[in-house]
This record gives sequence, C-alpha cells and structure tokens, in this order.
Amino acid sequence: MEKMRAMVLSECAPIETNPLKLSEINKHQIERQNEILIKIEACGVCHSQLHGIEGDWKELGIPPTLPTVPGHEVVGTIVEIGTNVTKFKVGDRAGITPLLEACKNCQYCKEGKEYLCESSTITGESFKGGYTEYITVTEDFATKIPENMKPEYAAPLFCAGITAFKAVKAAEPQQDKKIGIFGIGGVGHMAVQFANIEGCNVIAFSRNQNHLDVAKRLGATDTIKFSGSQEDLLVQIKEKHGMLDAAIVFAPADLVTDSAIKSVKKGGIIVIATIGENPSFVAFEEKTIRGTLIGSTKDMEQVINICDEKNLEVISERFPLEKANEVLKKLKDSEIEARAVLIP
Ligand SMILES: [Zn+2]
Ligand SMILES: [Zn+2]
Repeated sequence: MEKMRAMVLSECAPIETNPLKLSEINKHQIERQNEILIKIEACGVCHSQLHGIEGDWKELGIPPTLPTVPGHEVVGTIVEIGTNVTKFKVGDRAGITPLLEACKNCQYCKEGKEYLCESSTITGESFKGGYTEYITVTEDFATKIPENMKPEYAAPLFCAGITAFKAVKAAEPQQDKKIGIFGIGGVGHMAVQFANIEGCNVIAFSRNQNHLDVAKRLGATDTIKFSGSQEDLLVQIKEKHGMLDAAIVFAPADLVTDSAIKSVKKGGIIVIATIGENPSFVAFEEKTIRGTLIGSTKDMEQVINICDEKNLEVISERFPLEKANEVLKKLKDSEIEARAVLIP
C-alpha cells in the first residue's frame, strides 16, 4: 500500500503538548467510481480544529472518532478520477468544504441544504482530512477552482469564505443597511467584504486593534473596539450609529452574542455563526435570531465566482504541513492575522 504523510490526532490534548503527530498513513484510493483523488496543495487551519483537538467540544461529539486527520478547507489538483465521474477531469483543480458527503436523499439534501443532512460525513473527522497529501471525495461534493487561483487564496474560501458568505446572506443585506460584524478573523474579514459588495455600511467589532485595522482597510465604514464592557460598547454604537439593522456574530463568546442582540434595532436580524448560548432575547422586540452553518455546494460555487470576479482579498499565511501544532498554537495566541494554510 502506498503511504502519505499526515498530521494525525490520536488523543485530544492542549495544543502546547503537540498532539498532532507526523505519521505515514495509507494513501487514499478511489473506492467508488464517482470519486476523485485530489493531490492536496493547501489546507486552511480553522479555529474549530483548535477546539476539536483540545477537546473543548467533546460534549458536542467533536471529534466523533479518533484517530483523525484534521483539516476541512482543502484544495488541490485532481490526479485520478473514477469511471463514473463527469464533472471533472484529471488536472482540474478542486476544493472540499467541511461537508465531505451527504445522503442526497433526505429532505434537507433535496432542498439544497445538504449541509444539514443527518447522515453527512464531515471532512477532518476521520482519516479523510486535509492535514495530509491526498484525499478522495465524491464529485458532487467537490467544487472546481480556477486554474490561476493561488492555493493559499482558495483554501480559506472552503470554510471561512462560505461561512462568511452564508452569514451575510442570512442578514438580508441591502444598500445602506447597517450591519455589525462581531469578530474579525479568518471568517470576519471575508464577511466585511461580502457585506460591502452588497452596499451595506459595515461596522466591525473586535477586541483586537490589528483586526479592526484590517476591517477598515477591507471597506468597513467604522470600527469599534470591544473592551469587554457591554455598557460601553452599546453607548458607543448608539452615539455613533444609532441602532444596527443587523448583526453577525463570529466570536464564540456569549457576552458578544448578547451585545450583538442588544445592538440591533427592533425587528432587526441577528445571525449567529458560532456556538454558545443566547442569554437575552425579548420577544416583544420582534428581533429574528438566525443560526447559520457553512453552506451548500451551490453557495460554494458562488463564493468562488464572486471572489474571482470581484478580486476579494483573502489574508492568509503559508506554513509547512509539519508545523501544524505550532500554527494552531499561534492561532490560540491570536498571532495569526486571519488564516493560516498548511502546505504539504
Ligand atoms: Zn472551519
Ligand atoms: Zn441527506
């Protein structure tokens, strides 16, 4: 059996203990004739991997099995195709989102919301993850990427990009609508741009001044630093902008979610694209709270097209695959500006 290099997680542990071990595992092979084999060019490092690896999300059943090869923002070149594959040919480039596969038969799948499928397979929650050299996927769950799109640009689009895109859509963007974006990292910096091209006035919130500077450069109308005091924050929002029309939350902190809900005017929309609890919600204010999770294959195609056509910026840094532990440690310490990608 041919082997490949992979960063394998056998046990959840703090990232400081280097829980990912460089290993030689069996190279994936095409097993069903609708699969493609991708030689990975890059895999993005998502914040959710940090939580999964450190065991923060055990109660949520993540990771569901061990050992795993983490990584769910995968792009590469197709080196082999099954005999029934029609969408791709060898040499094409393609990417995979966190949704590795869904049943295609349930109500969600039929409605084009396959990411909600109850019998889905998640990329990076088995040996099929992106922190390695090769991966297989059925053709329907891979998305074509343009020839000239750099791997470190394309990879982050497959989780951060699609999550940002879907969250902005859920906020019902319109010309001049005031949208607050809470949390400007790998996902937030993309959301600022997606909201911007819809003509919205974006107000960016973060604890981190560097992130606010990035948001400003990418088109945010205003930025407000969150010092940790909700009262302070709400006063600043009211004084500078009145109430917001909508808010999108990417920062996984209940205080942030609560602040976002309170900063939106009556009848407004709050989109929550992270985990946590929603401490205060007053029914009489007629606000809508909406959850959101990645997006469909169709959404993914749109993300690639929009980013390509409008030249949106993807802030990313390249690291060798073997540095996965160090990169995740940097992410934990807020030393990654937006997104890190691993290059095998
Ligand atoms: Zn992700
Ligand atoms: Zn399904």
